[in-house]
Amino acid sequence: MTRPAKVIIDLAALRFNYSRVQHLAAGCKVMAVVKADAYGHGLVRVAKALSSADAFGVACLEEAEQLREAKITQPIVLLEGPYSFVELKQIEALDLDIVVHHISQLEMLEQSTIKKPIRVWLKLDSGMHRLGFDIKELASVWSRLQVCDSVANEIIMMTHLAAANEINNPMTSVQLDAFASACESYTAERTIANSAGIVGSSDSHADWVRPGLMLYGVSPMQDSIASDHNLQPVMSLESRLISVKNLNKGESVGYGASWRCPSDTTIGIVAAGYGDGFPRHAKSGTPTLVNGKRASIIGNASMDMLTVDLSAQPQAKVGDPVELWGTSLAIEEVASYADTIPYELLCGVHKRLAFVEKNG
Ligand SMILES: *Cc1c(COP(=O)(O)O)cnc(C)c1O
Repeated sequence: MTRPAKVIIDLAALRFNYSRVQHLAAGCKVMAVVKADAYGHGLVRVAKALSSADAFGVACLEEAEQLREAKITQPIVLLEGPYSFVELKQIEALDLDIVVHHISQLEMLEQSTIKKPIRVWLKLDSGMHRLGFDIKELASVWSRLQVCDSVANEIIMMTHLAAANEINNPMTSVQLDAFASACESYTAERTIANSAGIVGSSDSHADWVRPGLMLYGVSPMQDSIASDHNLQPVMSLESRLISVKNLNKGESVGYGASWRCPSDTTIGIVAAGYGDGFPRHAKSGTPTLVNGKRASIIGNASMDMLTVDLSAQPQAKVGDPVELWGTSLAIEEVASYADTIPYELLCGVHKRLAFVEKNG
């Protein structure tokens, strides 16, 4: 790849963040969530680096298949369960676990003739109202699972928190109470916490935790960045200046000539744009680091390029390094300038970019 835009993946940071999960949720088993190509970091790369994870969580059969092809032997959980009946045979062949969150999936299992029972993570809706059985249905679903030949004996109870990223949101304790009372009379392991639960709500740790975002070194909590929680960014998006120019007051920059220099300005063109996954709607003023010093974005990113204000370092030159987010520039801050969340930026990083592993 000749373009200077690249993604650096720091595997030591990934392992460090995993150790933070183990420290915060001491004694819990860990399902490392690696859906969406491990939040853009590379599914197999991440799973191999997290060799001590107790299980991996993925969104679909294809992701699970890639992990098995890469000789990943831990349990792999399909977080949304099977999407159709025909998947069950492959789930059996790949020895996967499934979330069961809807009656249609229970029916698939009841109709199936697979020989090796599948381990089920039974998802209850404790208030998020996205996936999961209503707590009122638990008794009947539980007894149907117990007698279903396609279901392994060990069932794990699961729920998902809606607002754990807000430390004082009362919804979390309402959900925890609802889940605890629903599970009370069943002997089964339990799992509740995503990253925000792990960091912000120790009552949610239960038997298994399910970290995603924090493994990648991003804060799961509102209004904070990774370093506030002693997490280390794993992904850095980097490029270089490919042009530097001096513009006069009033001259415009970019398509539509919508941004005009308020005074004589040195600008730099960075080889990275929305074709790489950098958000086009990141506002003027979004920070970047040029030579390690802050330089704001001017106008909108285009496909392969974006423009930065070099007024503070007019001596900057073609070839100088630019960080768009990562080790030294918080992705949480960039996301807020782009009116989005770090999850979306990570998942959106384009596969056209060169990926470089560090500390492997
Ligand atoms: C994606 C996902 C997680 C991980 O969430 P983070 O906020 O990234 O930690 C945990 N549990 C389930 C069911 C998920 O789908």
